[in-house]
Amino acid sequence: MTQESLHHRDWRKARLFGPIAGLTLGVLLLLVLVSALLVQRFDATASAREQHMVQQGFYYQVQELNKVIATQVGWDGAVKMLDHRQNADWADFNLGNYLYTFNGFTHSFVVDDRDKVFYASFNGERAGLGDYAAFAPAADQLLPQIRKAESIRPKLAPRPGKGNLVIPPIQANTVGRINGQVYLVTATLVQPDFGKYLPKTSRAPVAITALPIDAKLLSGFAQRYLLDQLNVAPDQASRSGNGTLVLRDLRQNPIATLIWNPRKPSAALLDRLLVPLLLVAILLGLLAWSMVRRSAAVVTDLIASEARAKHLAFHDPLTHLPNRAMLFERLHALLGGISRPGDRVSVLCVDLDRFKEINDTLGHHAGDLVIETTATRLRLACAGATLIARLGGDEFVVLCSKADCDGAEVLGQKIIAALSAPIASEYGRLEVGCSIGTVVIDRSGVEPTEALRWADLALYQSKQTGRGKQTFFIPEMDQALQSRRSLETDLRNALADGDLRMVYQPQVDLHGRIGAVEALLRWTHPERGEVPPDVFVPLAEETGLILLLGEFVLRRVFAETGQWVRIRVAINVSAEQMRVPGFAALVARLAAHARIDPARYEIELTETALLSDDPVTAGNISALKRLGFTFALDDFGTGYSSLSVLQRFSVDKIKIDRSFVSCLDDGGESEALVDAMIKLAKALDLRVIAEGVETESQRSHLAACGCTEFQGYLTGRPMPAGAVEDLIGVAATQPRRAVSRRR
Ligand code: C2E
Ligand code: CA
Ligand code: CA
Repeated sequence: MTQESLHHRDWRKARLFGPIAGLTLGVLLLLVLVSALLVQRFDATASAREQHMVQQGFYYQVQELNKVIATQVGWDGAVKMLDHRQNADWADFNLGNYLYTFNGFTHSFVVDDRDKVFYASFNGERAGLGDYAAFAPAADQLLPQIRKAESIRPKLAPRPGKGNLVIPPIQANTVGRINGQVYLVTATLVQPDFGKYLPKTSRAPVAITALPIDAKLLSGFAQRYLLDQLNVAPDQASRSGNGTLVLRDLRQNPIATLIWNPRKPSAALLDRLLVPLLLVAILLGLLAWSMVRRSAAVVTDLIASEARAKHLAFHDPLTHLPNRAMLFERLHALLGGISRPGDRVSVLCVDLDRFKEINDTLGHHAGDLVIETTATRLRLACAGATLIARLGGDEFVVLCSKADCDGAEVLGQKIIAALSAPIASEYGRLEVGCSIGTVVIDRSGVEPTEALRWADLALYQSKQTGRGKQTFFIPEMDQALQSRRSLETDLRNALADGDLRMVYQPQVDLHGRIGAVEALLRWTHPERGEVPPDVFVPLAEETGLILLLGEFVLRRVFAETGQWVRIRVAINVSAEQMRVPGFAALVARLAAHARIDPARYEIELTETALLSDDPVTAGNISALKRLGFTFALDDFGTGYSSLSVLQRFSVDKIKIDRSFVSCLDDGGESEALVDAMIKLAKALDLRVIAEGVETESQRSHLAACGCTEFQGYLTGRPMPAGAVEDLIGVAATQPRRAVSRRR
C-alpha cells in the first residue's frame, strides 16, 4: 500500500470517526454543562430562599423583642410610674434591670413629653443621663415617628368596667453604630392598658432601648435558623459567595451586614448524582468506542474493495498494466499540461508482429504467455516512462512526458530490442517482435484520441514497410489515411456502379495447353484509372467490404464461365470471407443459381486463412469440399508454417509464390527452395503450379524440378472472358445460355 493511499485511508477514517468522537464529546460536555447549570440554578434558588428566610427571621426577632419592651411599658402602672411620677426606681426594676437580665438590652432610657431624657441605665444598673448623648442620634430618628403615631392615635378615655382599652403598641426600630458597637435601638411609647392612669399630656414618655447585635445574639439567631458562621461585619461588607443581609437605619444608611455561609444543597445533589453521571459518561464512551471499532472494520473493508474495484476498472487483468481508460485519463492530463515551449509528450503505439499467428496456431494459453512476457519486458525496457498501458489484444501504448524526439527514438529502439528476443516456453522458442508507431506532441490543444490515432497511423506505416521498425508520425500519413478513406467510399460506389470486372489468366501444362484460368478482379476508377487489387483488396478486407466484393466475384465468375467445359476456373477467396458462418451456404446458393459444376472450380486460399484453427473456417472448407470444390494454397512459401497447414487441411494443390519464381533466374538458393517445395508437394501427393512465370528459363527451371503447371505473363496475361473463349475455341464452351454478364 502506498504512502498516498495510506494517507487517503486515514483521511477517510478520520472523516467517519470525527463526527462520532465529536458527538460523544459534545454529549459529555452537554451533560456537564447541564449539570453545572442545574447546580448553579439550584444553589441560586436555595440562596434566594435563605436570604428571604434570614430577612424574615430578623424581622420576627425584632418583633419579639419589641413585644418584650411593649409589655414592660404598655400598662397603667407604667403610665403612673413614668409619666405621672417619673419614678426612676420603678424604671430600674421594670425596665433597665429587667430588660438587661432577661433579654440582654444593655441600655435603657426614658424621655419625657419634651423628649428630654430623665432616666438612663447601663447593664441593668442606673447610669448617668449623659450616656444618652451617644444614643440621641438614633433616638432622634425614631422619636418623630412615635410622636406622629401618638398624635393620630384615637383619644384615650377611661372605660370603667369595660376592661382593656386595646391599644396597639407604638414602637419604632432602627439600627445604629454607637461607640463601635452595632445596636438595635427601639423606641416604645408608654401607654395605658385599662385606662386607670391616662397620660398626663398629649405626649407620653418614650422608652429608648438598645440591644447590641453581638456574637451572643447572633449565635441564638443562627441556631434558630440553622445558619453557618453567622457574623456581623461593619457597613455594607460584600463577600462573594456568602449570604448577606444589610442592616440599615431609618434613613436607609447601611450600618452593618450580617454575613453567613450559605447552604449549598447542590453539593449534596452532586454527591448523589456523581456516580450515575460517571456511569452514563463511561457507558457513552464505551458505546462510541465500539461504534468506532465496528465502523473501522467496515470502512477498512470498504476501502479495500473500492481499491480493488478501482484497480479492476483501470487495469488489464492479465498483465496488471493500466488499461485503455487509464491511458486516456493520463494522456488527457499530460496533453493538458503542455503549456511552455519544450513541453512534450511522446506516445508510442507498440504492436506485436507475429502474435496473431501464435495465438491462432498454439492457442490462447500461448498467446497469454506472450502478452505477459511482453508486459514484463516493457516494464523493464521503459523504466523511465510515464505510463505503460495495454490497449487490448497485442497492442500496448507507452507514454513519456520527459523524452524529447531523440529520447522517444531511443526508447522505441530499446522496446524493439527487448521484444525481439525469443520467448522460451513449453511451446518452444516463440519469435514475436514488434512494430512501433510514435508521435511526439509539443503543442497544446491535442485530444488524446487524436494523438493515439496519429501514433496508430505511424504504426500502420511500420507494419506496411516491413516489421520490427519504429516510425514517427508525419502529417502526410493522415492524408494517406484520408485518401484510403475516400478510396473505400469509391470502392463501395464501384460495386454499385458496375466499375468492377473480372479478367482471367490462363494456367497451362507442359505443352502450353490451357487447362485452367485464374479469375482476377479489376477496378477502373473514374478518375484514377486502374486501381490494382493489391491496393483495394486489403482495404476491402480491413473494412469488411470484402464480403460484398467476394459475392460479386463469385456471381460474376459463375456467370461468365459457367458454360465452359473442361476448362477449370480458380477463384481467389479471402480469409475474411472464410470466417463468415454461412459462407459455404452462400457459395452453394450462387452455384445452384448459376447451375455450375463445382468440380470445375478451385478456391485459392492463402495460408493466413488456414492458419487459424477457427472452427467456422474449417466448417466452411469441409462444406465446400463436399459440394465438389477443390482448394489451392496460394502464395505458398511466404507464410509462417506451411507444412503444418498442409497436414491439417487436405488442399489439392499448392501454388508456388511468384517471389520464388522471379528469383529463379538469379540462381542461388531459390532453385533449391523451389525444388524442395515441389518435392514436398509430390510427397504429399499434391498438384503444383508455379505463378508469375515470365521467362522461358524460369519455365524450364520449374519443369526440370518437376512442376507441370504454369501461370504467368509468359503463357498468358489476364484477359476478359470473351478473349479466353476465343483462345480455347467455341468447342470448349457449351451453347451460350442467356446469362447476363452483369448483375
Ligand atoms: P494472386 O492471387 O497471387 O494473383 C496473382 C497475381 O499475379 C495477379 O495480380 C496477376 O496479375 C499477377 N501475375 C500474373 N502473372 C504474372 C507475372 O508473370 N509476373 C508478375 N509480376 N505478376 C503476375 P493481380 O491481379 O494484381 O492481383 C493481385 C492480388 O490481388 C492477387 O494475388 C490476389 O491476392 C488479389 N486478388 C485479385 N483478384 C482477387 C479476387 O477476385 N478476390 C480476392 N480475394 N483477391 C483477389
Ligand atoms: Ca491467386
Ligand atoms: Ca499468388
